[in-house]
Amino acid sequence: MKTIAEQLQSVYQAIHNCAAECATEHKTTLLAVSKKHPAQAIRDAYQAGQRAFGENYAQEAASKKAELPDLPEIEWHFIGPIQSNKTRLIADTFDWVQSVDRAKIARRLNEQRDTSLAPLNICLQVNISLKDNKSGVHPDDMMPLAELVDKLPYLTLRGLMCIGSATDDIAVQQAEFSTMQQLFSQLKDNYASVDTLSMGMSGDWQLAIKSGATMIRLGTAIFGSRGN
Ligand SMILES: *Cc1c(COP(=O)(O)O)cnc(C)c1O
Repeated sequence: MKTIAEQLQSVYQAIHNCAAECATEHKTTLLAVSKKHPAQAIRDAYQAGQRAFGENYAQEAASKKAELPDLPEIEWHFIGPIQSNKTRLIADTFDWVQSVDRAKIARRLNEQRDTSLAPLNICLQVNISLKDNKSGVHPDDMMPLAELVDKLPYLTLRGLMCIGSATDDIAVQQAEFSTMQQLFSQLKDNYASVDTLSMGMSGDWQLAIKSGATMIRLGTAIFGSRGN
């Protein structure tokens, strides 16, 4: 079995090769999704050079963070669905929240962010598959939500996040990613703080990079299976 450091090196190499192959001009960073893996796994990845970690459950992340007080440059990203009774813990624990999809959540995070900390970095999650049961703001409602987040003093608008449809149909994936690319470009034209397009997971990250993703999110490829 490969170590986390070895897996991480293979992933960095694969990202580098993909970027070189399609001659992208943007830089793509890796979010290591560490949900359901212990604090030690995060420590191992940190020691191998990884800094940004993604978590889906606020309480789990807060416990792991408490076990890792000695990793000064670590960056915690919340990427799960947000219930309004969890916003305080999220605002206290994380540096980034990538799954903001409604005004109420944005306002609560702003009110609950400790004002002595740096503003919380925000990506708006877009419901790109347009399925009713999926999280995310409808593409048509993205701009008004961005306008709100931009005005809230303890939040910084950084960009967009999406979860592509779980499909093998390249045409569907491609269409979703290019819509995201257009929305992102619109957002960047309006807000100087915007620099992050978080899209691409295990099954579709190469296509995401080719479609302009600046951040891809991988868990299993780095930490192994979550046993669920
Ligand atoms: C779990 C998760 C990932 C990573 O999934 P893997 O299949 O482990 O690579 C990426 N993004 C989001 C939003 C997730 O919830």
